[in-house]
Amino acid sequence: MQFIDLNAQQARIRDAIERNIERVLDHNQYILGPENEELEKVLAEYVGVKHAIGCASGTDALLLAMMAYGVGPGDAVFTSPFTFIATAETISLLGATPVFVDIDARSFNMDPALLDDAISSVKQGRVPNSEPTEHSHAPLVPKCVIGVDLFGLPAEYDQINRIANENDLFVIEDAAQSFGAAVDGKRSCSLAAVGCTSFFPAKPLGCYGDGGMCFTDRDDLTEAMISIRVHGQGTHRYDNVRIGINGRLDTLQAAILLAKFEIFPEELLLRKRVAEKYTQLIEPIQDVETPIIPSHVSSSWAIYSILASDEKHRSYLQGKLKEAGVPTAVYYPKPLHIQPAFSYLGYGENDFPVSENCAKRIFSLPMHPYLSDESQEQISGILRS
Ligand SMILES: *Cc1c(COP(=O)(O)O)cnc(C)c1O
Repeated sequence: MQFIDLNAQQARIRDAIERNIERVLDHNQYILGPENEELEKVLAEYVGVKHAIGCASGTDALLLAMMAYGVGPGDAVFTSPFTFIATAETISLLGATPVFVDIDARSFNMDPALLDDAISSVKQGRVPNSEPTEHSHAPLVPKCVIGVDLFGLPAEYDQINRIANENDLFVIEDAAQSFGAAVDGKRSCSLAAVGCTSFFPAKPLGCYGDGGMCFTDRDDLTEAMISIRVHGQGTHRYDNVRIGINGRLDTLQAAILLAKFEIFPEELLLRKRVAEKYTQLIEPIQDVETPIIPSHVSSSWAIYSILASDEKHRSYLQGKLKEAGVPTAVYYPKPLHIQPAFSYLGYGENDFPVSENCAKRIFSLPMHPYLSDESQEQISGILRS
């Protein structure tokens, strides 16, 4: 059994992928070719925003959004410590300071009730839970919030946007895992000022390499992001009006994504079916907690994660599944505030207890649109016994 089965998907659309690749080989425009524009148009329409800006990865999408808004040294950027490193790494790369806000134990996303306090603390010159270090002595200016839609479930942007508005903060949606999700019918990537997604192969809409995209309704940010992704270019290639990066999406990846997007809406429904079946099978099992999705939200189900009762119970269950040939994974074994890379921020153990508790108990089951009923029954059978 595979954790993610990309072969089953490829078998369905191999002809379309080959045709699209061939078209690129014929026209030879490997950098920002016609497929890039077409993909941006199609996906902007799907998400329901004015602009889509393709880029080289989900990480670059976050960089583009923050650079376009002008996040830099002295700025506090509030985000979850329970996410992939890229969310906070990009904040540090720009010289800004990640300020972590603990998560809600049921959604695994930032707890908006804690955001207000964190912003107030920073305004008073204090970073919540962090011991002052030589790097964090200077007072920070609250600038931005990055909500993370973990496992495909959008964060609570109603509340995050409201709190951010009250404090004049810019909101970015890290939708790397949630492309295709929706809240009250409004699609992920449109839930904040800028939505950033990833087309890494394992994400809900993945290409065959690295890729990403930013989505926004704002013309000014779009202009800046288009410039920043090509070395801060102005009216022509050798006119550089700001500091930028080499952050374009390859034409070949755009061509592959166009073929994959054809079946994406159907794949989303298949993922939903798999997730619902998992929950139905696993929910009655004692000592294992299944994910809860509010009724007005639809997840993209990038990852299906469950909670064991403690660390020992988790390794026991993972061991039993492994013996039966069922792969599992832990997203994420170590919250970001206790990663060595962020030791300069002055956080320590027990600073974000909910994230740390989840990190010890969480693990993820095989999840893809083509997972069979039999596989799911086998997995739940092992968990039950
Ligand atoms: C995958 C991921 C990213 C980074 O995307 P890449 O395309 O790998 O650069 C950022 N944030 C989250 C939450 C992710 O899961």
